Amino acid sequence: MGVLLEEGFRYSNQHVVFRTIRESGMITRRQLMQQTELSFQTVSNIVAELIDTELVMSDGLVNQNAGKRAESLKVNPDGLFAIGVLLDRARIEIALVDLLGTVRSFREFNFAPSHPDAIMENISAVTQEMLHDFEIPEERFAGIGLCTPGPIDFRSGALSRPPDFPHWTFVPIRPRLEEMTGYPVTLLKDSHAAALAELWTLQNSAPSSFFYLYFSTGIGGALVVNRNIWTGFSGNAGEVGHVRVADSPVCDCGAVGCLEAVWSLNRLARQTNQTVAGLVDSLETDHSPYRDQWMAGVPLLARVVVASVNIIEPEWVILGGPYGQRISASLLTFLNEALQREGFVRNLRPLTVRSATSRNAACLGAAMMRINDSLTHRTNVDSMVGLNI
Ligand SMILES: [Zn+2]
Repeated sequence: MGVLLEEGFRYSNQHVVFRTIRESGMITRRQLMQQTELSFQTVSNIVAELIDTELVMSDGLVNQNAGKRAESLKVNPDGLFAIGVLLDRARIEIALVDLLGTVRSFREFNFAPSHPDAIMENISAVTQEMLHDFEIPEERFAGIGLCTPGPIDFRSGALSRPPDFPHWTFVPIRPRLEEMTGYPVTLLKDSHAAALAELWTLQNSAPSSFFYLYFSTGIGGALVVNRNIWTGFSGNAGEVGHVRVADSPVCDCGAVGCLEAVWSLNRLARQTNQTVAGLVDSLETDHSPYRDQWMAGVPLLARVVVASVNIIEPEWVILGGPYGQRISASLLTFLNEALQREGFVRNLRPLTVRSATSRNAACLGAAMMRINDSLTHRTNVDSMVGLNI
């Protein structure tokens, strides 16, 4: 195994060259030299290391000036893999993701509320199966990116009594999963992981700032600034679902009148005695018997969205998460009208909410964060995190 794979980028020029190759798609050494402003010798040495460790590969010869031909370089998608895991209230999603962010394998199963160790054993077993099925050698595996609902404590790697997770009180999930699997684990909040996936998917067309509304069984969010997530001190920023909008009922988080206690997929599913997945299936149809009840709560969401936009003034608002794209048709018009009516800067510029583009976003974002961490030595205690590879 090369030192690079073992230790990640040891100096910033390696990082710069790798990133330039990835962003270019295909590039020659001479073009790399021009774009990075490094010497040809430095570029050649770093490219040799990247090829040696198989993070980068040749893409054949291309014509250059004066009829000369030069080797074109590209990122080797098989150079490094990670597993992304979404541990949700309703289900677990597990994805095997390559170095270019392509989901190679995806599985989901229902979250049967059980002991944390049983869930972690399950994650561990699926991880081993995927690595075996795709014949991924140990040295090409960066580890597991795990995302969960908050509150998390990314310093200790613990999950701290997430609402509606029986048996999950201060579970040190990151260290325990590392111990169980023998692989490094990155822990982050589900909404943050999904916003990172959106950044990754949009690449250069991503705005410099956006607020990501995360629709799962509950409602979360993530603030992106300069292509980084503002994670907050312990990793829990963006909890718009726990803004108080009414005087009752008591929320699963213990506070009173939170948005997601008054109006969320989970709330309506409980009221109508069905699963969240079944409710979403129904809401996607034109004649859902639950539509009126669902739409009656949208003004509460709009109030929270307008307040968030007034406080942080992001360029865009993006509606995503496991159910975001599927329910967006019922929400986008209402939210856009509310922003045009009440947003503080409405007379300066259009304020729009749009649907997310990334699929399996939370899993993808978590896996890419793990790959990022293994190559860049990021620690788990930064308040701003981004995908810098
Ligand atoms: Zn709450």
